[in-house]
Amino acid sequence: MIIGVPKEIKLDEYRVAMLPVGVEELTRRGHQVLIEQGAGLGSGLADHDYLENGCEMVAEASEIFARADMIVKVKEPMPAEWSLIRPGQIVFTYFHFAADRELTEAILATNCTAVAYETLADDQGRLPLLTPMSEVAGRMSIQEGAKYLERPQMGRGILLGGVPGVAPAWITVLGGGVVGANAAKIAAGFHANVSILDINMDRLRYLDDVMPPNVDVLFSDRHTIRRQLERADLVVGAVLIPGAKAPRLVEREDLKRMQPGSVIIDVAIDQGGCIETSKPTSHSSPTYIVDDVLHYCVTNMPGAVGRTSTYALCNVTLPYVIQIAQQGIEAAAHVSKPIARAINMHAGKVTNEAVAETFELPC
Ligand code: NAD
Repeated sequence: MIIGVPKEIKLDEYRVAMLPVGVEELTRRGHQVLIEQGAGLGSGLADHDYLENGCEMVAEASEIFARADMIVKVKEPMPAEWSLIRPGQIVFTYFHFAADRELTEAILATNCTAVAYETLADDQGRLPLLTPMSEVAGRMSIQEGAKYLERPQMGRGILLGGVPGVAPAWITVLGGGVVGANAAKIAAGFHANVSILDINMDRLRYLDDVMPPNVDVLFSDRHTIRRQLERADLVVGAVLIPGAKAPRLVEREDLKRMQPGSVIIDVAIDQGGCIETSKPTSHSSPTYIVDDVLHYCVTNMPGAVGRTSTYALCNVTLPYVIQIAQQGIEAAAHVSKPIARAINMHAGKVTNEAVAETFELPC
C-alpha cells in the first residue's frame, strides 16, 4: 500500500501523524511511505530523519493525496484539502464529525473511507486513540495554570507549591477521568492542595485509592463546587458526558465567589466547556478575563507540545496503520472490531450511527 503523511495545516498545529520508526516499520513490510517535506519540523523531526528510514519525501500535499491509498493525519482535513481526497482513499485521522456539519458533508461527498481516531473503541468502550491526548491536556493544564497564576500574566501571583512558611495553592479539578486524574497527579507533585470532583462513585473510590494524601477526592454537586470556588486559585474543567455537550458546572454568577486573579483552565472546551463564561481560544491568544478571573480555553492543547503529543499519538496509532496497510480496510474491519467502529464513512455513506443521527443522514 502507499501511505501518505501530509503536513498539518490547521492553525497552531505542530503534530505530525507518523514518526520515523513508523516509516521503517511500514517500509520493511513492503509498503511505500510518502512524507510531505517539513511535515515533522513542528515536532522536532527533520526530513532526513524520515529519509534515513526509507520514506519518499514529497514537496506538495497535492501529490501525496494524488498517489496515496491511505492518508494518515492528525487533525480533520481542512477545506483546502477536501478537494484533494479521492474516492476510495482511506483517510485515518481525528475527524470529530458530530461537531461540524460542513466537514461531514464535504468528506461524505469525496466517497473516501473516513476512519476516525476518536471512535476507535475497544471492547470495554475505551478510546485508546483519545486517551493519550487527554493525558497530555490534563498534565499540561497544571503547567498552564502555574504560568497564568504569575502576576505578569495577570494571575494572583501565586507559586503552586508555596515555600516553607507560606501555604501552597488550592487547586480544584472538576471531573476525575483521564484529564482530571492526570491534572491532579501533576498538581499533587507540585505540593499544591488539590481537590478532585466526580459523580461516578466507582471512579471516586479508585481515585481515593491511588491519589497521594494532598488530593481530596470529593463528590461533585452544586454546594461542593461553590465552596471549592471560594478558595481555589486554579480551577481545571475536565468533565465529559460521552456524546453530549459538557455539563455546565459553574455559572457566571459563581465567578463572583472566586478571588481576583484566580485562573480557570477549561479543558472540556472542545465539548462546549463546563464553565458558563468559557469560549474557545487558540494558542496565539489563549486567555481572556471575565469578572477578574483569567480564562484559558484552548481547544487543541496538545498541539502546543508537539513533540510529546506526536510521540504519544503515533505510539498508539501505528499498530492500526500497519494492520490496515497489511490487510486492506475491509479485511481489517472484518477481523478488528475497534477498526470497524472507527469507520465513520464508506463509499458515500455514513457508517457511524451517532454522526448519522446528529445530521439526520441515512446510515
Ligand atoms: P473521561 O470520560 O475520561 O472523564 C470525564 C469524567 O467527567 C468522568 O469521570 C465523569 O464521571 C466525569 N463527570 C461527568 N459529569 C460530571 C459532573 N457533573 N461533575 C464532575 N464530574 C463529572 O474524559 P477525559 O478524557 O478526561 O476528557 C475530559 C474532557 O477534556 C473532554 O471534554 C475532552 O474532549 C476534553 N479534552 C480537551 C482537550 C483540549 O485540548 N482542550 C484535549 C483532550 C481532552
